[in-house]
This record gives sequence, structure tokens and C-alpha cells, in this order.
Amino acid sequence: MKEYQFNQKDLRICVAVRKRPLNKREIAKKDNDVITIPNKDHCLVHVPKSKVDLTKFLDNQTFKFDYTFDERSTNDLVYRYTAAPLIDTIFNGGNATVFAYGQTGSGKTFTMGGDLSSAKADYTHGIYAQTARDIFQRLSLPQYRSSVEIFVTFYEIYCGKVFDLLNNKKRLRVLEDQKGLVQVCDRKEQQVKSVQDVLNIIQHGMSIRTSGTTAANSNSSRSHAILQIILKTSTPISAQSNVTSSVSSSSRNNNHNNPAVLRRSVKEVGKMSLIDLAGSERGKDTASGDRLQRMEGSEINKSLLALKECIRALGRGDGCHVPFRGSTLTKVLRDSFIGDKSKVCMIAMVSPTHSDVENTMNTLRYADRVK
Ligand code: ADP
Ligand code: MG
Repeated sequence: MKEYQFNQKDLRICVAVRKRPLNKREIAKKDNDVITIPNKDHCLVHVPKSKVDLTKFLDNQTFKFDYTFDERSTNDLVYRYTAAPLIDTIFNGGNATVFAYGQTGSGKTFTMGGDLSSAKADYTHGIYAQTARDIFQRLSLPQYRSSVEIFVTFYEIYCGKVFDLLNNKKRLRVLEDQKGLVQVCDRKEQQVKSVQDVLNIIQHGMSIRTSGTTAANSNSSRSHAILQIILKTSTPISAQSNVTSSVSSSSRNNNHNNPAVLRRSVKEVGKMSLIDLAGSERGKDTASGDRLQRMEGSEINKSLLALKECIRALGRGDGCHVPFRGSTLTKVLRDSFIGDKSKVCMIAMVSPTHSDVENTMNTLRYADRVK
């Protein structure tokens, strides 16, 4: 099947919707597909009223987004129009952020991490891996070779607390100084030299995010996972005649006894944050859920609301009034919501089924209001 094409747009805030296909269980239960994407150019999502509880949805609902990916779309296609254009942003000294939003089971992790449904998990087409691949490809260009280094952090936020996925889920503190600069203290920042290095980190981080079964905070659908790929340049402070600003990593290793080379100024020049958000569904009937569920639900609600406000502020170019303090998620992403060069892409994931239509409508309304 030939993949469809879109016109590429240069957007500061890009909002896309991706619909996943029906799965075997849904087909077996005859849970119908009620979401249609009638026209790729018009980017409409259409919920026909005949299939929907009319007391809740009185009319056909249509929405317009920057890109709309139907159930046939591949991870490659989604990547090409969402995260790929942001590679330029980070190499131009900006911060870029991609969010996967949607209810649990809608395809957030599939889009970000890749297809992990079979025993032979395939991480290579997820946005994490494809972004890493494009960054390393760009790095091989002469102007970047040996002057830019890549670092990765991977952590999750559960109930407002931060846990390091690169360091056995160690609890991390979030501190804010007088200037409002927010820091996640002691998080592990690992240097990577190849796409494979990044894949190893993703695989390990995702496995400790999802595999635990006892602790409540192992429930990945209740936590936000944040993978950051950071570009840094490192220049010697006291440059000597034999030291240039673009020392290759091998010569640096050979020079580890040379104080002139050891004293370096390391500068962050660009950052890509790739975020697999917690499931956006309203928690189980708040009255019946237990205390922990209620707390999880209200934390998630709070962070997703704060996120929406921060993205809207970025869209308005309202640098001074970004309400990032509203949640841990927005606090740690603060530097990505300010700055002229920051760009954001939100991919809202939806399930096709009739039984999920209420969550789907909430997702579409949320995505609609981000811009
Ligand atoms: P979420 O992270 O939003 O909870 P997942 O990404 O885990 O959802 O997806 C739920 C299930 O649906 C997984 O088994 C996944 O492999 C499958 N799935 C999701 N999106 C797609 C897609 N676009 N094509 C095929 N299978 C998908
Ligand atoms: Mg998931």
C-alpha cells in the first residue's frame, strides 16, 4: 500500500492525531471502529453520531489538526512529520519536545518506543530510536564531527515524584533556585556514541518502567516517561596552542593528564525531549477508586492541565507568563517552554472503538485546545 503524503509545515507548535487499528480482542468483541479520518488534507477526525451515545454527543464531531494519521500509518510516516523536522531545531540551538498523549492502550508507547507486542520487540522504528539515528547521522557532517557530544537522560514522573530510569529508579529531587531555574538533582546523564548506545538505554529504561509488578509506581500507564537527548559542545577554557576547540574524543582520552585539556567549558546547545505521557483517561470513578488511585488520577490531571497551559503560552510567545509551576512535569520541562527557538509537537493517540469514544472525545478536545 502506498503511504500517503502531507505537505510539510514549519510549525512552532504542531498538533497531530494518530488513530491505531482495531486489535484482535476488539474485533472478536465486535467493538466497532467509529473514528473516521475522511480526508488527509483536511485533517478531520469524525465521530458519527449514529454510533455514539446521543445524550453525551449531540452532533457529529469534527476536528482539524496539523496532521492526522489513520490506522494504516506507520511509525516511519508519523516520525517523518512530527519529530524529524525538530532535528533542525536542536542543531540550531533550540529545545524541542514531542509529547505522546492519549488514554492507556491508544498507542503512545508504540509510537515512542516501537512495536513491543511480539517476543521480538522492535525498538528501531519508534520515535526514540529514529530521532537518535537522525541525530547521529547529522553528527557525521564535517561541521559537527568531533565538536558536538551527545548525552541521554531517562526518567519518569509518578505522583509528582521523579525516578531515574538510568539508575535503578533512584528517587531524584527537583530544586528551583532564586532565578527560577529548575534542576533535577543527581540524575544520571549518560554519554552515547552510537544509535546502539541509545537503543540499549531505551530498552533497559522501558523494561524497568514496565516490568515491576508489586510497587504501585511500576505501573507505567500512571507515569510520564521523559527521554532527553542533549547536544553539548565542549571547549577547553585555557586553550593552548596544541589544543583546539574541537578536540576529538580519542585525543581527549590521550590527554587526560593535561590540565589544559581537562579544564573545559561544557555548554548545552540543544535538547530533544521525548515524552510518553501518563494515560489521560479519567481515573476509575473517583468515589470508588482507592486513595492511591485518586491521588494518581489527580496528579495526572493536574500535570496534563498545566502542560496544556504551558504549550499555549509558548504558542502566544508569552515567555514571562509560562505557568510551569503547576506540576512537576512542567517544572522539569520549563526550559523547553521558553526561548525563541523552542518548538513542541503533540501527538494525540486515539483508539478507534465505540467503547472508547468518550476518552477519544476528551483526547481530541484536549489536543484541539493546545493551539
Ligand atoms: P499506550 O502506551 O498508549 O498505553 P501502547 O502503545 O502500549 O498503548 O499500545 C497498546 C497496544 O496496541 C500494544 O499492544 C501495541 O502494540 C498496539 N498498538 C498501538 N498502536 C498501534 C499501531 N499504530 N499499530 C499496531 N498496533 C498498535
Ligand atoms: Mg504505554
